[in-house]
Order: sequence, then C-alpha cells, then structure tokens
Amino acid sequence: MNIKEMDRQYVAGTYRRFPLEIVSGKGSVVRDEEGKEYIDLGSGIAVTSFGVADEEWQRAVTEQIGKVQHMSNLYYTEPCARLAELLCSRTGMKKVFFSNSGAEANECAIKAARKYSAERHGAECYTIVTLKNSFHGRTLTTLAATGQEHYHELFQPLTPGFAHVAAGDLAGLRTLADTVPVAGILIECVQGEGGVVPLSEDFVRGVAALARERDIPLMVDEVQTGNGRTGQLYAYMNYGIQPDIVSTAKGLAGGLPLGATLLGDKVQNVLGYGDHGSTFGGNPVCCAAALSVLRRIDDALLASVREKSAYLFNVFTGAEGIESVSGIGLMIGLKTVKPAGDVVAACMQRGVLCLTAKDKVRLLPALNIPMPLLEKAAEVIREACR
Ligand SMILES: *Cc1c(COP(=O)(O)O)cnc(C)c1O
Repeated sequence: MNIKEMDRQYVAGTYRRFPLEIVSGKGSVVRDEEGKEYIDLGSGIAVTSFGVADEEWQRAVTEQIGKVQHMSNLYYTEPCARLAELLCSRTGMKKVFFSNSGAEANECAIKAARKYSAERHGAECYTIVTLKNSFHGRTLTTLAATGQEHYHELFQPLTPGFAHVAAGDLAGLRTLADTVPVAGILIECVQGEGGVVPLSEDFVRGVAALARERDIPLMVDEVQTGNGRTGQLYAYMNYGIQPDIVSTAKGLAGGLPLGATLLGDKVQNVLGYGDHGSTFGGNPVCCAAALSVLRRIDDALLASVREKSAYLFNVFTGAEGIESVSGIGLMIGLKTVKPAGDVVAACMQRGVLCLTAKDKVRLLPALNIPMPLLEKAAEVIREACR
C-alpha cells in the first residue's frame, strides 16, 4: 500500500486532498515523493509564515526542544511569558490566553465576551453577533459563530446565542443591538474562507464605534489575517480601530499549533482562576517558534509584504481570464473566468500550489517569498487563467 492509499483507508475522510504527497522543502519551494518541485503559494493555509524548514525558525524550535518540550500550565516557562509580553507590546493589548488552534482562540474570545457582558449587563446578555459569510472554526460553538448555513446543517443543535448580520449592514447591526442584548461582536477584517473579501473601512469603523458606545466587546478574528499577512502585524491595524479582543493562530508559530486570544483594557481581568484552560496551550516549543516569527515581522518585512501585494495586484488586475482581484497584503483572491478548481489544478501541473476560497483562487504565500519565485508563480497563474 502506498502512502496515498494508506491515508485513504485509515484517515477519516474529512479532507479532499490534492493527489500530491509532500515530503520535504525549503522556504517557498516544496518537493513531492518523486522529487518534483513546486512553488508554494498556500503556506499550509497561511501557517508557514517563513516557508518550510526555514533555518531561523528551525533553530528556535530545536533549541527549545533541547531544553524542555512541555511542562503544562502548572509551572512558569520563559517562552510563554516572553511571547505574551511581545504580543501585548506590539498591539497595546493587556493579557494573552494561549491555546492550540484558531477555533480555540475564538472559543476563548467568546467566553471572555460572554462573561464580561453577563457581569456588566445581566445573564440575558449573551448573544454574540457575527457576519454572514464568515468563518470562525469547526467546534460546535465556532460553527454557530460561522455565518454560513451549509456548515451548520448536519450538526444541530449548535451552541445557542448567535446572530448574523450581512457584512456592510451597519443599520441592521444597530437594529439588532436595539432588540437583543448583545454580548459581543466578532468580525474578520478580511473574510478568508468566505472568498477573500475585505470589509469596508466605513463598516469596520462603524462597528467599532457602535461597540464602544454600547459597551459591547469587539472581537476581531485574526486567525488567517494576523501575523503580518495583510502587510500590518494584524489586519485591524489597516482600519485604525482598537479591538477589545483579538484571536489569532495559523501563522503565529510558523507551522506549529498555537492559538492566542489577546485581551484588551476592557476585558483584561474577566478570565480568572479556573475560568478557562488548556493542557497544551502556551507550550514552550510553540511559543519559542512564535517568538522567532513575531520578532521577524518588523517594519521592513511588513513593507515588503505590501510591495509584493502591490506587484500581484498589478500583474493580475485586468489580466486575461481574471475578472477581479481582492484582498489585502499577501492574502489575495482571484475571481477567474474558468472555475477556480480548474485553475488550481492547472497551476499544480505546472509546479505552483494555490488554494481556493469559495469561487476564488486564493493565494497565501510565505511572507518572505523571494521576488523571483513570486514572479515565476504569477506567470504560471496568468497562463492557467487564460
Ligand atoms: C482557519 C480559521 C479558523 C479556524 O482555525 P483552526 O486552527 O482550523 O481551528 C478560524 N477563523 C478563521 C478566520 C480562520 O481562517
């Protein structure tokens, strides 16, 4: 039995995998079992921030593995404390809860918002408002938060207490907040799984103003958009707002599982002893990896992300077979004339790995992808779209 057959027989059938086994790589180039090389524009879905087997990242991880790989949250460890301090100093947030995934980071955000609002406004204030076409994770609570019906159907009943309004519908949000006690508002500044759709600046600022006015914790899901992806450390920074809670994961530790929920002024002391926990959360190896990733996301790197973004917008806008280009930074969606899946398959054939999101081709290259590789990949995509 080869690996693909073994996987199909023994791994739960929840993923439609590409017919490709990746065995190794370096940076933005990965290699399959036959030695064929691919330029990777997916980064494990915005996870490998500095590509595969990056040397600096490897050094940070192996150094920590040689010291202690896990101690539980019953003891202090240095990487966890230093990472929390760095996240706070880079965002103005006050405290961090560590978990292992995006869904868990959102679970913590929702728990913090619910507890804050119940204490301030009463037990009936529990409704969390999210946006239609959003994606917040696969647990029963984050599925309830996810504003896409088709994810919900098979798993009823989901966690109650969620309502959804259309992105851009500030009046609808206001009406809802007038009728139902709202415990929290959760948004993605760029809807990733929803098709790489950025929210408008007016809407995001309006939501932030409403949340402030009504003392509703504003949560921004930065699981996909965070950690440099949009050319700012966090996507909300493109919008000039300050959320009360930020959840992040994916690219944070550059390829190891780590989620973080950042708590701002308003909610910093909401979670106390025993209110929440995680066995693996704050694991020293994952935190050492994240420290090395975050330290490299400096002004120069963010500027280069914005430059590469401008390059991609430039080459794709108006290109034959491409109807529109969306996104911010190195989170880009292409509405193609051909079905997105066909374009992705054609690119793979020609040595470039892309993703889809809804009906778009989605690009999430490593933040440090070398310009020549990006140019080569962009040419392959343009050919595949024609
Ligand atoms: C991927 C994603 C999640 C879920 O993250 P997991 O690590 O798969 O649990 C949540 N929110 C957004 C915006 C995401 O893109």
